[in-house]
Amino acid sequence: MNTKVQPLRIGFIGLGIMGRSMAGHLLAAGHELRVYNRSRDKADELVARGARWCDSPGEVAAGSEMVITMVGYPADVEQVYLGQGGIVERAAAGTLLVDMTTSSPSLARRIAMAARARGCGALDAPVSGGDVGAREARLSIMVGGEQADFDRALPVLSLMGTNTVLLGGPGNGQHTKMCNQIVIASTIVGVTEGLVYARRAGLDPATVLQAIGGGAASGFQLNVLGPRIIGGDFAPGFFIEHFLKDLGIALGEAEQMGLELPGLALARGLYERMAERGLGRDGTQALIKLYQA
Ligand code: NAP
Repeated sequence: MNTKVQPLRIGFIGLGIMGRSMAGHLLAAGHELRVYNRSRDKADELVARGARWCDSPGEVAAGSEMVITMVGYPADVEQVYLGQGGIVERAAAGTLLVDMTTSSPSLARRIAMAARARGCGALDAPVSGGDVGAREARLSIMVGGEQADFDRALPVLSLMGTNTVLLGGPGNGQHTKMCNQIVIASTIVGVTEGLVYARRAGLDPATVLQAIGGGAASGFQLNVLGPRIIGGDFAPGFFIEHFLKDLGIALGEAEQMGLELPGLALARGLYERMAERGLGRDGTQALIKLYQA
């Protein structure tokens, strides 16, 4: 990370698979980092590198010029922002609040309104690119909010991603992330079925990947998750339980729009069966287990 930026006091809440790598890039770029996570041990590495541990989301917010969150579910987002003693309550006027969790568009709008009432800016800025994209600072970042807040956040967001796009007002980042998840939902089903078919046809799946991975079927699901599927590596880059959360948000939004999305509904049904089998903490590539059972 060689990009020179004006050092800021940045708060980072949520240091899981994605957040830990993302926060690390900010630290590497010379920013002053204050961190909090539900389980403290996940902050150890960043604290050893110079980040300062805080005991609550509110404490993070109180000392930061910009607060970034990367927690799990909308309920977590609501708690850290709007809960008692949370970010919105404790942030000083002028603080910029950026939620990068995949969450609901309506919650993003509520947070933006609450932030504005306290003199703060707020952006919803969910990401795509997976654990690899987070580690390599190559995320796509989909932003909803005001142009001035976007301009202010861009130098910092650019330390974590290579493709940061403003899509309109509050909530539109989350709507765009839902478009992304709708595409992925049917794609991962296709990748899984392609590999199941390859095996049954007596082909070597790795050679099939080599053949089709550079053609029209190529993409993250095939080229990154395909080898994990073939190698039997089902460790989470992206938890099935988080994917189910996203598919639920997308289907709920579609329903409100009077939109029927049968591919999305099919994918959700398959992943629900995985969760019922206790596989919610596997990575999304574990879908092949359904076909092997
Ligand atoms: P993760 O590993 O579960 O990370 C979430 C972190 O947030 C966990 O460390 C969790 O603490 C912490 N957290 C949750 N609620 C909290 C709260 N109320 N206060 C403080 N910390 C809290 O999940 P992830 O894979 O990094 O994903 C994070 C978000 O990004 C999710 O919304 C996911 O859908 C989205 N996303 C993930 C990917 C991916 O490929 N992984 C890609 C794009 C978007 P604990 O350590 O105690 O659990």
